[in-house]
Amino acid sequence: MSETVYTDLAVIGAGPAGLSAASYAARAGLDTLVLEQTGAGGQMLFIDRIENYPGFPEGITGYELAQKFEDQAALFGARIEYAEVHEAARDDGGFVLQTSMGTVRSKAVILATGAVHRPMGVPGEEEYRGKGVSYCATCDGPFFRDKPILVVGGGDSAVQEALYLTGLTDRLTIIHRRDRFRAQAALVSRLESNPGVTIRLNTVLREIRGDGRQVTSAVVENTRTGEVTELDTAAVFGFVGMIPQTAIAVQLGAELDNAGYVITDSGMATSVPGLYCAGDVRNTPFRQVATAAGDGACAAHKAQEYISALEGRAY
Ligand code: NAP
Repeated sequence: MSETVYTDLAVIGAGPAGLSAASYAARAGLDTLVLEQTGAGGQMLFIDRIENYPGFPEGITGYELAQKFEDQAALFGARIEYAEVHEAARDDGGFVLQTSMGTVRSKAVILATGAVHRPMGVPGEEEYRGKGVSYCATCDGPFFRDKPILVVGGGDSAVQEALYLTGLTDRLTIIHRRDRFRAQAALVSRLESNPGVTIRLNTVLREIRGDGRQVTSAVVENTRTGEVTELDTAAVFGFVGMIPQTAIAVQLGAELDNAGYVITDSGMATSVPGLYCAGDVRNTPFRQVATAAGDGACAAHKAQEYISALEGRAY
């Protein structure tokens, strides 16, 4: 793709929001190009089992669901290119994207770039990343089968990933900085009833230690008592929240909220005409595969209306 590519709609990001947007847009007749820098599926790829996506009462692996999203978008005619978007600008009433595979010009853009894991921010984290420090239980958990594992965080990710890890070890400790979990009660009660799990609330991570090759322990502090403990552990899995991927939104001049998420209206429109935003990167109150897919559908519908209005035809 060295020449300039022209398309009606560029969808940036192929997680559930982007792929859902691509399905709806392509099915509605828009020439739709999806640009994805790593692998189609986004965070779904790292979820062992998704139990709350409607239509799959038995649950489905994140990988399988991602594959189905991708197949459906392709079936309706969306093209998926594996390319990174370096720069985005408005030009001539449309958008021009400089990507690792060349220039893309589109009439509208749906940004579905999601969010990445926030680092835990303690000494040892960088040194032992990939040597026991991880942010993905399904990717790295099996390396630590039957070994002591520490999980850090109190949200849905931490608790869900901890539950996955309980299938690999009966020596799992989870620490959370507050006195109660943020995660859904249904997930928390499953964790609480597992005899292989030690829960330490009001506890923060201070340091990750190792022998130079591998993590061997973690230093934690009880914030109520001030007691500092060194826990033997082979791995530290961090799930302390997400950082929205807004670089492209910022380049295009879209407004962000105080927490750094892209502000959209109920139709997923941003403050920039023709730029829509879907999924975890926007200021949504609930971040789920189902809500991301809904956002994508809505953004595609509104982008189609926008493009039709540009072209002066009824939709
Ligand atoms: P999150 O909901 O933002 O939770 C982050 C957790 O990390 C919170 O418990 C927070 O503590 C803690 N934390 C933040 N900064 C910290 C720090 N510096 N040190 C120690 N702890 C820190 O993030 P998430 O769990 O990754 O979830 C992201 C979104 O995806 C959420 O909307 C979530 O509902 C959704 N999600 C849903 C599912 C599901 O439905 N199955 C699964 C995964 C994710 P506080 O509680 O004290 O703020």
